[in-house]
Amino acid sequence: METSIKKTLSSAKRLGIMGGTFDPIHYGHLVAAETARVELGLDYVLFIPAGEPPHKKKLKITDAELRFKMVEISIKNNEYFKASRIEINRKGPSYTIDTLRELHRFFPKQDLFFITGTDAMMDILAWRQPEEIFKLAKVISASRPGYESQKHLAEIYSKFPISKNRLYQLEIPALAISSSYIRSRIGNNKSVRYLLPDEVIKLIEDNKLYVNV
Ligand code: NAP
Repeated sequence: METSIKKTLSSAKRLGIMGGTFDPIHYGHLVAAETARVELGLDYVLFIPAGEPPHKKKLKITDAELRFKMVEISIKNNEYFKASRIEINRKGPSYTIDTLRELHRFFPKQDLFFITGTDAMMDILAWRQPEEIFKLAKVISASRPGYESQKHLAEIYSKFPISKNRLYQLEIPALAISSSYIRSRIGNNKSVRYLLPDEVIKLIEDNKLYVNV
């Protein structure tokens, strides 16, 4: 873990961990992180772009360095947001449990809150060591408006009773934006202005990302 981040976050009591592939990051992610920060009283939110998302081995994803750069420039004006290369630097698939263990080692006294999209979280039963994930962190599940998750949530609660008091649902209207929607608009040569920060759009254009999707 980056020394400067360790130093800054060591004073935190409640630490948000924003996990995602971020291909690309957009305003939906940023609003979700800010809403989680405010609603759950988090001191900081640490964005952790997945190095090798374990469930996307066969999919083409953008180079991790570019995804990290897009995250970095998107959060630079929010003093409560930081970005870490912890998953990018770790070799092999980016399992959330490994990341949480590492963070718990660095921040043993802090309350950890893992924030991710509800669609991603609904698969948590298939992730590596889900029960351990709930032991190490509370989970904040950010959903699109109108997302129907009750059936899946009931399954998670019944399989892992520990999750009952450790799983928070946040509805984020801005999550009507999605990375796949942005990639498909760029592929169809359509404007993506106002869906993500201008500087990220510039980086996407300079590197000709998503033109052949
Ligand atoms: P994904 O499958 O690409 O995304 C599923 C859905 O969740 C998409 O609608 C996505 O929207 C949304 N989403 C993803 N991250 C989000 C976030 N931080 N805030 C709000 N919405 C979000 O999921 P992913 O991004 O690759 O993975 C999400 C997290 O789960 C990552 O930290 C990943 O490492 C972890 N994960 C762990 C395991 C494991 O440990 N075995 C397996 C799978 C995922 P967008 O496309 O717009 O982002």
